[in-house]
Amino acid sequence: MQFENTLLFAQDLDLNDPLKDYRDRFYFPQINGKDVIYFTGNSLGLQPKNAQDYVNEIMQDWRELAVEGHFYAEKPWWDYHERLAKPLAKIVGAKSSEISVMNTLTVNLHLLLVSFYRPTSKRFKIICEEKAFPSDQYMFQSQLRFHGIDPDEALIEIKKRDGEHFWRTEDITNKINEVGEELALVLIGGVNYYNGQVFDMKKITQAGKKVGAFVGWDLAHAAGNVELHLHEWDVDFAAWCSYKYMNSGPGNISGIFVHEAYLNQKDIPRFEGWWGTKKETRFLMKPEFEPMDNADAWQISNSPVIAVAPYLASLMVFEEAGMDALITKRKKIVAYLEFVLKSIANEVEGSFEIITPSDRGCQLSVLLHGEGKALFDYLIKNGVITDWREPNVIRLAPAPFYCSYEDMFRFGQILKSGILRS
Ligand SMILES: *Cc1c(COP(=O)(O)O)cnc(C)c1O
Repeated sequence: MQFENTLLFAQDLDLNDPLKDYRDRFYFPQINGKDVIYFTGNSLGLQPKNAQDYVNEIMQDWRELAVEGHFYAEKPWWDYHERLAKPLAKIVGAKSSEISVMNTLTVNLHLLLVSFYRPTSKRFKIICEEKAFPSDQYMFQSQLRFHGIDPDEALIEIKKRDGEHFWRTEDITNKINEVGEELALVLIGGVNYYNGQVFDMKKITQAGKKVGAFVGWDLAHAAGNVELHLHEWDVDFAAWCSYKYMNSGPGNISGIFVHEAYLNQKDIPRFEGWWGTKKETRFLMKPEFEPMDNADAWQISNSPVIAVAPYLASLMVFEEAGMDALITKRKKIVAYLEFVLKSIANEVEGSFEIITPSDRGCQLSVLLHGEGKALFDYLIKNGVITDWREPNVIRLAPAPFYCSYEDMFRFGQILKSGILRS
């Protein structure tokens, strides 16, 4: 499609957008009395309007039923989280049995490494991407030290090539083959938080497993954003937060995937608690641990349903819209944003460049060559919420649920006036 950087053209795209009504299903913050142009759905998704009802339902059940709510609420609390498995399975390409919802992301990664990072004197190395999200770096370092292993020796960070802003798949698979028998684990962010690159999860998973390593993915920026086939790709494990593209609320609960191959394995190392035992016998309070036969075996504590509720609410909106439609719109709106940015770049030459490669999801990262922070502040003052990353990058994620093509056009105009004003 031949795009045009005009208001009329953008409005026409909106008119023909099958997801256009979903914008109305979310609350927007306001600046200068107007809904903002929201580019930070990759950081904290907007609140779906149905979320409050789901939370209220639990508060009301708690008020009226108290402890009886565990079993007699309309959505009983003791297995409330199971309602999320099916819609999540569709979003990440898994079987429902491979999904659980619990804790928060970094906590879950640590817990999953109990099962999937089992270093021996021969096989102990970990491959990740350079400059991984800081929490992941701290996780790797502390896991290694916990096992008495020197991170400098065991942690291998795949670098980008000089002068390039993205990772090459072959650099990763070559390193996997090179480390070979010493490789215990590959764990990478499926979509990089900084440059927005989508890794070739299928190829990298294959390569890692071929040399006998476990392969897991941190899907914080991938879940609800890009196409995933975790089961089919034979991924061992994955985890994601729910508050970025999945709109479940600040700091909210995380999802995990554990491949079917590891369900019902009696001797798999795992930190366990009562919510991982078989439902049928859980309340017999027996001393021996009988695991659930699905990924819920990794559950430890009883579920914080007040937190799970808005996640369920959000997943109902995902169910209605469907991942396919979201991905179709995401591709188009990101392409349109790229077009708008390039049109502006032509007019104000040399002021910025897009560093996100063509393997991308919802995010375009823009490296500013001129002033950075002041321009970012100008954008906010003018109703555009983006985010800022050192040294001079703004990240733009037009989430397909609630961003419009007109937003992209208007953003372009604000960006241009911001650059020209100085
Ligand atoms: C957002 C994000 C996190 C956040 O972890 P929490 O434990 O939810 O605070 C972790 N890893 C990556 C790659 C992220 O993008």
